[in-house]
Order: sequence, then structure tokens, then C-alpha cells
Amino acid sequence: KSRPYKWQRVLLKVSGEALAGDRTQNIDPKITMAIAREVASVTRLGIEVAIVVGGGNIFRGSSWAGSSSLDRSSADYIGMLATVMNAIFLQATMESIGIATRVQTAFRMSEVAEPYIRRRAIRHLEKGRVVIFAAGTGNPFFTTDTAAALRCAEINAEVVLKATNVDGVYDDDPRFNPNAQLLDSLSYHDVTSRDLSVMDMTAITLCQENNIPVVVFNLTKPGNISKAIRGERVGTLIGG
Ligand code: UDP
Repeated sequence: KSRPYKWQRVLLKVSGEALAGDRTQNIDPKITMAIAREVASVTRLGIEVAIVVGGGNIFRGSSWAGSSSLDRSSADYIGMLATVMNAIFLQATMESIGIATRVQTAFRMSEVAEPYIRRRAIRHLEKGRVVIFAAGTGNPFFTTDTAAALRCAEINAEVVLKATNVDGVYDDDPRFNPNAQLLDSLSYHDVTSRDLSVMDMTAITLCQENNIPVVVFNLTKPGNISKAIRGERVGTLIGG
């Protein structure tokens, strides 16, 4: 069977921060609609798309734990619940333009969404539905980047596409160093040894151990999400 596109099944990671755009509200509906439209355009091509959403636009466990009476695990559970809010918002947006979308949560909230069932998720994808994985890994002390790597490996997706607000990975922080260079490609080792803030260590090593390439790209540039999903060169490729 010929493969017209580089990937047949992808895992798109959308951070909470990306959903917020530059608004003071938690979610910018223009961003969720832009994501939905671009995902729609690639599902029509037959590419299967699973999404892991973050929650940092609403609640980030690590920044609350310790600074208040919240212990880390409780804070992280609140963070995981935040990802469910984003997931339902994104699902509703996708369905409003006719893309069949299922949300699966890592812990049970069966009135709201399906529980995560690996085989069922794969079945949805095969039927052309988009699956949004919410509540991260279901465990405190992890991140949604790790959930993205984990779900990618579980459902045999070929790549993690990490949508961010920056163009990719730089050799230095572009906010402080105007000469920072955007890197085209990197090895996993480059990321871990140079401490480039791409993903946390748990996430990147999980990708490395399972030979999952990661593409870091800017979702605020129109067309970039669909380009990344179609396998066109965009952003920085890690481990490819
Ligand atoms: N979280 C967690 N376990 C997971 C995934 C997420 O405890 O497997 C919690 C954690 O508190 C995190 C929050 O959910 O801060 C939101 O997720 P994340 O920070 O990864 O979102 P993003 O940075 O992508 O917006």
C-alpha cells in the first residue's frame, strides 16, 4: 500500500498555554477553532489524529504544590482535571465543524467522557474519529508531555507533534539572546545533554526508548498544524 504522507497516525500534543493564546481568558476560541479546522483538513486525507491536551492554562500542579496547603499529589489531580476542561472544549469545537471526536480520560469520569481503553481508542482512529486523551497519565508527578509519549507508544502512533508558541528548539533562549539559532534537527542525546527545555526528561527518554520522533513547532502560524501532521518540514525534528 502506498503512503502518500509521511505519517499514517500521529499524536498531536497541544499545551494548555497554546490554547490560551494571548488572551487573559484561559481559552481562546479562535485558537481551538484554528486547531479544529487544521485537524479536519488532515483527517479528510485519511491521516489518523490523536490529541493529548495539557492544562497549564488553567492549573499547573507544580506551581501550587508547596506554595500553599496543597500537597503535590492533590495539586496534580487538580491539574489533570484542568486538562479535561480543555479536552471537552476542544471536542465541542471539533464537533461543531463536523469532526467526530471522542474524549478518553485516564481516570474515570464516565458521565463526561469515555475511560481510556487502548483498543477502543485505536478503533475510533481507524474509523476516522479524532481521539482526545485527557487527564494526562492519570498519575501525579507526571506531565502531559509524558502522557503524549506514553499514548503515542501505546496506540502505535508514529510521531509526537508538539505544538507550542515558539518556532521550535533554539540553541539559546530567544527571549534573552537575539542571536539564538533555531535548530533544524536534534538527537535525543542533544536534548538531554544540553538541557534544552523541549520536554521534561521523563517524556523525552520515553520517546527515545521507543524510537518515537518528536516535532516541536509553532501552532500560532496558520497552516503549521496541518503541515506538521502531513509530515512536511516544520519546526525542529528530534530523533527522526
Ligand atoms: N498532570 C499530572 N499527571 C499527568 C499529566 C498532568 O499530574 O500525567 C498535572 C500536573 O499538575 C500538570 C497539570 O496536570 O501541571 C497540567 O498538565 P501540564 O502542565 O503537562 O500541561 P501543559 O504544560 O501542556 O499545559
